[in-house]
Amino acid sequence: MRRQHRTKIVATLGPGTGDAKSIATLFHAGADVFRLNFSHGAHSEHKARLDAIRELERSSARPIAVMMDLQGPKLRIGTFKGGPVELREGAAFRLDLDEAEGDSDRVTLPHPEIFQALEPGADLLLDDGRIRLTVERCDAKSADCRVAVGGPLSERKGVNVPGVVLPLSPLTEKDRADLAYGLTLGVDWVALSFVQRPEDIEEARALIQGKAGILAKLEKPAAIDKLDEIVAAADALMVARGDLGVEMPPEDVPVQQRRIIEACRLAGKPVVVATQMLDSMVERPVPTRAEASDVATAVYSGADAVMLSAETAVGDYAEEAVAMMNRIIERVEKDPVYRKGLEAQRQKPEPTTADAVATAAAQMATTLAVNAIATYTTSGSTTLRVARERPPAPILGLTPRDDTARRLALVWGVHPARVPDAQDLDDMSATATHQAKIDGFGNEGDRIVITAGVPFSTPGKTNLLRIARIGGASETS
Ligand code: PGA
Ligand code: MN
Repeated sequence: MRRQHRTKIVATLGPGTGDAKSIATLFHAGADVFRLNFSHGAHSEHKARLDAIRELERSSARPIAVMMDLQGPKLRIGTFKGGPVELREGAAFRLDLDEAEGDSDRVTLPHPEIFQALEPGADLLLDDGRIRLTVERCDAKSADCRVAVGGPLSERKGVNVPGVVLPLSPLTEKDRADLAYGLTLGVDWVALSFVQRPEDIEEARALIQGKAGILAKLEKPAAIDKLDEIVAAADALMVARGDLGVEMPPEDVPVQQRRIIEACRLAGKPVVVATQMLDSMVERPVPTRAEASDVATAVYSGADAVMLSAETAVGDYAEEAVAMMNRIIERVEKDPVYRKGLEAQRQKPEPTTADAVATAAAQMATTLAVNAIATYTTSGSTTLRVARERPPAPILGLTPRDDTARRLALVWGVHPARVPDAQDLDDMSATATHQAKIDGFGNEGDRIVITAGVPFSTPGKTNLLRIARIGGASETS
């Protein structure tokens, strides 16, 4: 089975799509990666979903990536004595560590680190930015604020502190417990929420120890300030527009989206564009024209993947949302302007053997109009370098490792497949051409390009490029 789309689809699972049948439906509609959102749901629910995905993987014989998304240090206020309160503009309102239930004068903010980092004049955003408080006085246990933008406020709403780097680990105690659990389940990607510094990624890396790829969600202006270092430290990135748009004016988000995609394309790291892509499809079977255009824009700009959140987690039209996203992607990818754009965005190779082979493979694929580029890979890094070229031919990521095959499901243009390590050159060509044929990439006589490393089964040794015909002997150009 092969997909036509090259830009991948990430679908978030939720109460509406937790069962095996719904997951299979989303997969057949075009989802390549499933996101388990650990901000919601019990461990047992996530396990049931992961089991269903692995079963689907067996029945479809296709590697599928599972991304666990950690909640991260999402700050929340406490509860109110008599239900929601109304904050009036100009009124005083106090946040503190007092555990008593709140009222219209004060509420608990159970995060001592914040009070340490606050200064008079700082703004606090509550409830996704709907309410704005300005700090007038603060100490280690409380902050006296003035209501700059008022409105109704109910319990446990989120709090954002724009422009302040908080001395918080990106991993709360809950995250650490969730992570340990997710790793025992065998997730492929771990998404870190509210990353602020490159050190946050190192902290996670020490815990994950290579058991999963690390995807840094860019949803804090502080992270954007350190974009290049965070891109260098992470294995993949997400333009997390939901939270990013809370601390940043809406007009800045598309600008940052382009910047982030460009930085990731330069580094050759997979990048996902996320949140509200087809939001109106939560309630309706068709998207707005603006939403269709938003998905198309992300595709045109060369993103590896686009993501659905509420649309597939709780929406009434989850299958339709994936199918619609798939149609938009396939339509854009047929546009000659898309190909021209990718060529124009092509990044210079780095002076490595891997990049020399990757650029040459992409060039051969263009010159000879081959049916596929088959990349033998252990860790996935060669395949990533070839994907960085955005070649016109589909990329087969051939690997003996389950974890590598699954991780590659997130990457632009890559069709991962699990194959045994090649024994010699003939075996290498035979396996690659056979895989291309059985997965629908070509017929007898069609040509593919193959990249591999000799000696075989030594990671990090890609040094060989070969052209082979399906069902025939290999040839040189
Ligand atoms: P979330 O992250 O859906 O976990 O909040 C994505 C975003 O903020 O855009
Ligand atoms: Mn978020």
